[in-house]
Amino acid sequence: MTQADYPDTYYARTRNDGRGRPSLHGDLTVDACVIGGGLAGANAALGLTERGRSVALIEAKRIGFGASGRNGGFLNAGFSLPGSALIKRVGLDRARALRALAEDAVALIARRVEAYQIVCGLEQTGHMLVSWFDDRAAIEGYRAELARNFGVETEIWPRERVRESYRTARYFDGLYNPKGYQFHPLNYVLGVVGAAEARGVRVHEDSPAMAVEPHGGGWRVATANGSVTARDVVVACGGYIGGLTPRIGRAILPIATYVIVTEPLGARIDEAIRVRYATYDDRFAQDYYRRLPDTRLLWGGRISVRYAPPAAVQRFMLRDLLRVFPQLAGVRVEAAWGGLMSYARHRMPQVGRLETGLWYAQAFGGHGMDTTTMAGELIAAAIAEGDDTYRRIDDTFGLDWAGGPAGLAYAQMTYWRYRFRDWLRS
Ligand SMILES: Cc1cc2nc3c(=O)[nH]c(=O)nc-3n(C[C@H](O)[C@H](O)[C@H](O)COP(=O)(O)OP(=O)(O)OC[C@H]3O[C@@H](n4cnc5c(N)ncnc54)[C@H](O)[C@@H]3O)c2cc1C
Repeated sequence: MTQADYPDTYYARTRNDGRGRPSLHGDLTVDACVIGGGLAGANAALGLTERGRSVALIEAKRIGFGASGRNGGFLNAGFSLPGSALIKRVGLDRARALRALAEDAVALIARRVEAYQIVCGLEQTGHMLVSWFDDRAAIEGYRAELARNFGVETEIWPRERVRESYRTARYFDGLYNPKGYQFHPLNYVLGVVGAAEARGVRVHEDSPAMAVEPHGGGWRVATANGSVTARDVVVACGGYIGGLTPRIGRAILPIATYVIVTEPLGARIDEAIRVRYATYDDRFAQDYYRRLPDTRLLWGGRISVRYAPPAAVQRFMLRDLLRVFPQLAGVRVEAAWGGLMSYARHRMPQVGRLETGLWYAQAFGGHGMDTTTMAGELIAAAIAEGDDTYRRIDDTFGLDWAGGPAGLAYAQMTYWRYRFRDWLRS
């Protein structure tokens, strides 16, 4: 069997671990079987092996094949559900406690990069929120809210300063958060898996789990040419879960989102963007982008429920880029791709236990770098130590049915409605 390959992304072209892992042949027995080699699965596997458990990690395609290896590479603490909505849902104290888990996860990532010497270009460049709207009061209000509710200190940039750094009249004021990081997400997930392997985790690519069934007081996970028997199973398949474990899969909607990367721009990039912050704007349908170390521009945005092919992605994303920075007309796009995120209706992660020994970690939406790490730790601690911190999330944000095809149609309409609202406001 030929090995499945990564989609043609900038990250896959520049990954620093070209090794393939063998597919699963034969029957394995371990303490825990993790299904899904994205960051949720990788972190659960690493957390479990760090706690002395024997682990098998099985991935349908390649490690980091899904959203974890294709994303924008923005890392900061938070959730897809905005802080104000989280407070409305669970109250200020519980919202603070949840946010603290996300902050711990960011700190853990930085520690692991150092401890396991993961080469992924992790850099604390800071994140910049630029406003698409002439509304200074809104930015000031947001700054005050972040400081009051979560103790996050940010700095307002007046529009003159924003336009010095971003050579476009599209933006007004900005909000700079020095705590934000950026990195090469595929190299990061490969590094986490490499660390888990070095501690003895068995990793199998090209091994889609086809069934998860109760077996002798635990579970048996069947693949085409083998099986894993384990007391605990962690289902971490993100937006790629398909029909596996329908009770878990029906709780998310797979939503596509897109990225392009340009050719190296050399000095020309300064005609548009003079800072290295990971940048995003404040529309619902926002653009986000960052300068890569070799002067390429990585540009992301848009969502859809139907997956767009690379040629279409290249076209519509370049149009978005030139709408903000027309001076970059003529730049060549060297890679264009999409990926699937998993969203729950409540827009919070789903981290918990469906029944004894059957765990799930999914629904990280567009904010998954910190939250997948958080989920991996919570589940590893629950399995290995009986820790029930995961219930802080699971008791409120459970596996509600996401609505199937009607839910997808509703998600698409909501996106279009918000785009229209952004357009009216601008
Ligand atoms: C284009 C894009 C940009 C994004 N930008 C950012 C960003 O800048 N910052 C941020 O914080 N978040 C971002 N996100 C979100 C973030 O990437 C995700 O929330 C996160 O990576 C989800 O991780 P995961 O492990 O749940 O899923 P995935 O990374 O999708 O992993 C799931 C894995 O499960 C495997 N799988 C599925 N079914 C099976 C099966 N039956 N058997 C075995 N394996 C299976 C899949 O092949 C896949 O590898 C972005 C997402 C996308 C798509």
